[in-house]
Amino acid sequence: MAEFELPTVDLNVYSPKNPAEATIVENYVCTAESSPNIIRHITFDVSGTDLDGKFKVGQSIGVLPPGEDHRGKPHKLRLYSVSSPSKGENGKSNLVSTTVKRAMDEVDGTFYMGVCSNYLCNLKPGDKVKVTGPSGRRYLLPTNAKDFNYVFFATGTGIAPFRGMIMELFEQGITNQVALIFGCPYRTDVIYPNYLHEMEAKHDNFHYIKMISREDRRQDGSKYYVQTAIDDHADTLSPILGAENTLIYLCGMKGMETGIYQNLAKHGFFSYLTLKGDLADRDPSTWTWEEAKKMIKPSVRTFEEVY
Ligand SMILES: Cc1cc2nc3c(=O)[nH]c(=O)nc-3n(C[C@H](O)[C@H](O)[C@H](O)COP(=O)(O)OP(=O)(O)OC[C@H]3O[C@@H](n4cnc5c(N)ncnc54)[C@H](O)[C@@H]3O)c2cc1C
Repeated sequence: MAEFELPTVDLNVYSPKNPAEATIVENYVCTAESSPNIIRHITFDVSGTDLDGKFKVGQSIGVLPPGEDHRGKPHKLRLYSVSSPSKGENGKSNLVSTTVKRAMDEVDGTFYMGVCSNYLCNLKPGDKVKVTGPSGRRYLLPTNAKDFNYVFFATGTGIAPFRGMIMELFEQGITNQVALIFGCPYRTDVIYPNYLHEMEAKHDNFHYIKMISREDRRQDGSKYYVQTAIDDHADTLSPILGAENTLIYLCGMKGMETGIYQNLAKHGFFSYLTLKGDLADRDPSTWTWEEAKKMIKPSVRTFEEVY
């Protein structure tokens, strides 16, 4: 595997006890069409704070929602992946973007709304918000980023860091292969479709694969998930995954990693994985889901951010 070095990054310049004040500059729905899964692209202006120019793509920004929780304690910080490139949104070092899904749930007939995501999604340009960060020291592009191929696996808002990374890699003129596998339940939930289709049309070395889990069915009746792309798009992905200089990044829903790791192993791509227990001595087709969940960890070539 080609050597890589990760950049040194600033961490926690602002903390929950000492947050910075940012101003919202834009806040818009960024899915293909209006969808019950409401996802918004939100940009913060951090000018006048020490966060100007500090966020690297792959890091997260902390947001402190106002108010108190049910115990009367101030609401805790929530993290959001930066979706702008390291240079800043539109090349402006004072602008940091993220991609936020309104969290909501119904449990036993009672409807709950997530505190911070709904607070953020309701903000208007000019509104102030308390932020912290940067957060995250490993989920980054290497300093010699153009020397690698990339396979990005995203579910839902897990697309956030990859928007910024794709912008950054192509701005640097990457000639290696970059594949984005994006999974979501319905076609209406596809995030940043216009930008990604434009990139696909412009760059032969950018591969944009959408896996829609609840509308389409594979030939055997099973669903399309990000991990099934390794089978369904083997023509595109196998040569990239098999190359010496490929790094993989996963971001999104907790649990997505297990299926991806299991399928990588089934295809013999073991160098992305660290196997615990006796997994290495057994055929991957005999591994149970529970075993895979507990005993497959990422290797140095794999970057994982799941929440
Ligand atoms: C490193 C990292 C990066 C992240 N990046 C992103 C990102 O880019 N975009 C993004 O959208 N999110 C991201 N997240 C997740 C984000 O931090 C929040 O967890 C998410 O927005 C939900 O927070 P919330 O305050 O809105 O919901 P919370 O108030 O924390 O509630 C969580 C869920 O529980 C439900 N709920 C609330 N009260 C109850 C109850 N009493 N009973 C049952 N259910 C209840 C809510 O409806 C909600 O769905 C990231 C997380 C991490 C750790």
